[in-house]
Amino acid sequence: MSKINIIPIFVPHLGCPNDCVFCNQKKIASEITDVDESYLDARIKEYLSYFRDKSNIEIAFYGGSFTAINLDKQESFLKIAKSYKNLGLIHRIRLSTRPDCIDENILSMLKKYGVDIIELGVQSLNEDVLLKSKRGHDADCVFKSSDLIKSWGFTLGLQQMIGLPGDDKEKIYYTACKFKEIDPDIVRIYPSLVITQTQMEKDYLKGIYNPLTLNEAVEISKELLKFYRINDIDVIRIGLQPTENIQLGKDVVAGPFHPSIRQLVEGEIMRDIIVDYFKDRNTNNKDLFIFCSNKNISNLSGQKKIVKNKIIKDLNLSSLKLSYRDLPDSKLMFFLDKEETINIKDYLKTEIKCI
Ligand code: SF4
Repeated sequence: MSKINIIPIFVPHLGCPNDCVFCNQKKIASEITDVDESYLDARIKEYLSYFRDKSNIEIAFYGGSFTAINLDKQESFLKIAKSYKNLGLIHRIRLSTRPDCIDENILSMLKKYGVDIIELGVQSLNEDVLLKSKRGHDADCVFKSSDLIKSWGFTLGLQQMIGLPGDDKEKIYYTACKFKEIDPDIVRIYPSLVITQTQMEKDYLKGIYNPLTLNEAVEISKELLKFYRINDIDVIRIGLQPTENIQLGKDVVAGPFHPSIRQLVEGEIMRDIIVDYFKDRNTNNKDLFIFCSNKNISNLSGQKKIVKNKIIKDLNLSSLKLSYRDLPDSKLMFFLDKEETINIKDYLKTEIKCI
């Protein structure tokens, strides 16, 4: 399938009944006043004119809680989106919302307007974390909404945050195991960041809340990504998308922010696999060659060759040479004393201890 071209429509806190400790969308909403039908239409036209490849285009309503917006507003937004879908100019409609803003009537309306993908901002399935994050719903609500969304035939996405107030590894991995039971089509993983003008910022400044370090966030996200991958759940994003404001020193006050956190996580998974594969072999002062796709070369190299250098050190190699080979992303070919090929997912499934 060709790359998805996304038309992002940011729907700030419009109608969200909540005030989660990590969210500043109420503040953003008070600054953004022009999200109306003409804005939406203009934005769609603008994006459609940019895209060269027009074969796989999606309108995505991000932010806020779409199905908590007043019903007339939801319908007028969706009517516009559907008119473009009917013309074949866009191919999917995606939105994100809160688990407690889903019921049969809402889903029936979303079906009528051709919505394809519903993502739930779940964050955690531990009751204590949900309470401390002031999410305003319990875990049971997530199970019920997810079942309902699936029974109506929508693609289901679940968003997980790690490092929220009261969170720990056990609660994070518990949430992942429960996600597996729900069996969503897609997952997003967001290490919690301290964003300006939130309750979490106040708690951070008082020393009540401590965010994860970047290393901790990478380590936990690595375990989650391995777990979802071997369970055939597609992780479509790790970490908030950097924007002009989502940057350390701007809206991000503290926390494990990194513009390429996914690459750090993928690199650490590669390192785990390679170090595990050669752990019982004599690699001292030898040259190891790895042949793989370009994507895997950049994960194995890492920024400033950090992953590559770690592998050299871990295995006490003389050198590690990464070369392109026309292989799928799922495969790695090695040459140490002989040529060997592994399937990454099979190796993770059978050889690497996972949560
Ligand atoms: S439900 Fe979503 S939009 Fe509403 S406060 Fe929480 S994170 Fe923000």
